[in-house]
Amino acid sequence: MAQDLNGKVVIVTGAAGGQGAADARLLVERGAKVVLTDFNAELGEETAAALGENAIFVKHDVSSEEDWAKVIETTIATFGQINALVNNAGILKMEPLESSSAQTIDKLLAVNVRSVYLGMMAVVPALRQAGGGSIVNISSLAGMSGQANAVAYSGSKWAVRGMTKSAALELGQYGIRVNSVHPGTIATPMTAGMLRAPIDAAFPLAAMNRVGTPDDIAPAVAFLISDESTYISGAELVIDGASAVGQSSQFTAMMSRG
Ligand code: NAD
Repeated sequence: MAQDLNGKVVIVTGAAGGQGAADARLLVERGAKVVLTDFNAELGEETAAALGENAIFVKHDVSSEEDWAKVIETTIATFGQINALVNNAGILKMEPLESSSAQTIDKLLAVNVRSVYLGMMAVVPALRQAGGGSIVNISSLAGMSGQANAVAYSGSKWAVRGMTKSAALELGQYGIRVNSVHPGTIATPMTAGMLRAPIDAAFPLAAMNRVGTPDDIAPAVAFLISDESTYISGAELVIDGASAVGQSSQFTAMMSRG
């Protein structure tokens, strides 16, 4: 039985395409009302429109505090409450340290780290108002291990993992759960230019002998939002087809509920 998300209102960032769009689609299919946000307004509007009346789109730069206030306000004005936030938006830049620049680390920290911090700050009052909730922060396999030529990206994703654990400790008293998801290599626009054979050694091939798809990630996000994961908080869920760090026992447990 798929998790029932009826009555839940969820914000998904970076939902115009890639994994965020797949998350939003599955959440709506399972009964949630979803606010898709992205700074790509044209694609975001199109993606949300295809999901029907239980989805809306809000243009949003996740590194902007003002934009976060607007997203929270619009969500409550439209759907009356907020039960979950998926901090999914992110960017990847691969470049060797020797040819990198301060702009690279500043940009990656703004879009991958500041965003998650601002999002958690912004949503907590509404989650408390709703009597609790779930925050899912999308980190990466690069937040579990090292990745050559991606020092800034990897650092940003380790930060997401660390902030997740600290927020889980701080917010548990309000019934707010905070978990991180760590995808391996997933075929999305982000990796489109990188997945042409031969796959670079920086992208470890999964033991399952394929790269992942956004639909491999979305059910895990739905599970972490659902009432079937009510005692899971501060956890890290690796979804990588058994590549660098092996299999996650939590994911195995989730699948067996199936
Ligand atoms: P993607 O590039 O396909 O989608 C990311 C979305 O975020 C895009 O729609 C983009 O417009 C949006 N975005 C970028 N910057 C933004 C900003 N400042 N404000 C608002 N929206 C912004 O990437 P994806 O593969 O779907 O990645 C989703 C998440 O998963 C990211 O956090 C990424 O780091 C993580 N991840 C991806 C992979 C992978 O292999 N694809 C692996 C591990 C982790």
